[in-house]
Amino acid sequence: MKWSKTHLHTLREAPSDAEITSHQLFIRGGYIKKLAPGIYTYGVMALRSIRKLEKIIREELDNIECSEVLMPMVQPAEIWKETHRWSEMGDGLLKFKNRNDHEFCLGATHEEAITDYIRHDLKSYKNLPMIIYQIQTKFRDEIRPRFGLMRGREFIMKDAYSFDIDKEAALQSYDKMHAAYVNIFNRLGLDFRVVKADSGSIGGDTSEEFHVLAESGEDQLMVSTESDFAANLEVCPAIDPVEASYGGGEALPLEEFPTPGLKTIASLSESVKIDQKNLVKTMFFSLSEGLEDDKSKPIAVLLRGDDEVNPIKIKNHLGLSNPPLLLTETEVQTLTGALPGSCGPVGLDIPVYSDNGLKNYKNFTVGANKNDVHLKNVNAGRDFQVTEYADLRFAKSGDKSPDSKGVLKAIRGIEVGHIFYLGTKYSKAMKAQVLDQNGKAKTIEMGCYGLGVSRTIQAAVEQKNDSDGIIWSKALAPFHVHICNLDPKDSSVNSVVESITSDLEKKNIEVFIDDRKERPGVKFKDADLLGFPVRLTIGGKGVKEGTVDVVNRSTGNKKQVEINNVSIEVEEILNSL
Ligand code: ATP
Ligand code: MG
Repeated sequence: MKWSKTHLHTLREAPSDAEITSHQLFIRGGYIKKLAPGIYTYGVMALRSIRKLEKIIREELDNIECSEVLMPMVQPAEIWKETHRWSEMGDGLLKFKNRNDHEFCLGATHEEAITDYIRHDLKSYKNLPMIIYQIQTKFRDEIRPRFGLMRGREFIMKDAYSFDIDKEAALQSYDKMHAAYVNIFNRLGLDFRVVKADSGSIGGDTSEEFHVLAESGEDQLMVSTESDFAANLEVCPAIDPVEASYGGGEALPLEEFPTPGLKTIASLSESVKIDQKNLVKTMFFSLSEGLEDDKSKPIAVLLRGDDEVNPIKIKNHLGLSNPPLLLTETEVQTLTGALPGSCGPVGLDIPVYSDNGLKNYKNFTVGANKNDVHLKNVNAGRDFQVTEYADLRFAKSGDKSPDSKGVLKAIRGIEVGHIFYLGTKYSKAMKAQVLDQNGKAKTIEMGCYGLGVSRTIQAAVEQKNDSDGIIWSKALAPFHVHICNLDPKDSSVNSVVESITSDLEKKNIEVFIDDRKERPGVKFKDADLLGFPVRLTIGGKGVKEGTVDVVNRSTGNKKQVEINNVSIEVEEILNSL
């Protein structure tokens, strides 16, 4: 492929809304171009990378006998109403009506569509196991699309769905997919980690995420210093390094004291001379389950002053479909009679959930539900009832690893894949059954498996780059070799370019030729920016001497190589990657 025949435009500067490196490099390198927020055109180079990733995905999934289909992107509301996700998914689902007033949405995910696809055709246990996948454009009306392809509104996903006769078989399908994902990410040459994860609105109780490790990753992962334990912070169990306790001994008489202007745990801690970790904070959430009866009921959550409440743990503990929302300041005031900062559990007639970290806390301090007043010597059981103790806080670096091996350390990742064992959530709601060996109708057990195709290629760039540009792995590079033709008007140079290109292409090495009328410096800069593994510099001077410069993009090593040996040298570099 020649640059002069390609719609490829590089930029010196990235636009100001490109906050992370890979987004800047993708825009500067002409890989992607924004049409609207979160909506991009994949340019010629990005598309080649995407196609390579898709090929690897297909090979690995075909290896475990999955079959590929392509489902519609436009889906009727009816199937989403069957599973109640028409309302549960909230505004993330882009809904619209056609001329006949029928409701539709753009496919944000395809559990409903696939279940509808199979439900009348899969009849017997003999048809199972079955894994079906597609690679398709998804649309999610993300509140804050950002970081280019990382969080787009429109993006490409590979989604697969497994169907099995029972849980045991379903977990075998899950394990097969897990292994295929490990193969895929290994083949991409990426540094990645598999972590325990939350199932979100998809459902089910077993799920793992695949993360490409990168400092700028949106997700915080907790990993053990001494074992392979790894979990997304959202679900990582919190276990204190040493069991915490405070204010032991006899329960002392409850006492009010004035705390004018002390609205934060930090200011209260300083004033009463008690460590933040020994103060107790009260947070209020509203549970508006089912959304259909939108009566919301408030709950209080207590935790230590230096801990952070984890709404996903509340959701999972209470079996909600979405994390509960914090009450607003006005709602808190209506409920407790005081502003947040002066509130506590004493005297409230609502469920009170207490974080496990407070189990051994006695005679502690909380807000008095009167503005600018706190209570000291508060004791659970005597002054208020704890509905339940549970793990409701975020784990921290230094906490005990939940597998008791080592301590937790925080790292960051970009979620590129998410696999779920679903159970019968969709098959039950949509009545997808087969007959088992005894001729009895059984609800099919399902799993679903997402892989963000467009996000993954950008994650690869986020992981490997330098100040000059992208450093592609061999597997995902749009081309293997970038030829800078320094004298495109010189026929002897052109014939060397052509013969080297033809030698390389015979070996299935893909070549991109910069044949523009640009200065060498501009061509070198663009080659580094685009980031293909090998750069060849072919110009009049070298050709006269019978040599070509060969540059390894990842090491920066430059070598003058005789024209006849160029293809061998290129092969060596590619093999070393
Ligand atoms: P996230 O937590 O990042 O919002 P998710 O949990 O909503 O992702 P899934 O529903 O599990 O994502 O989708 C499967 C995969 O699709 C994700 O692992 C991710 O790689 C990709 N993906 C999800 N949302 C987006 C998006 N807005 N833009 C690009 N890729 C996405
Ligand atoms: Mg996810």
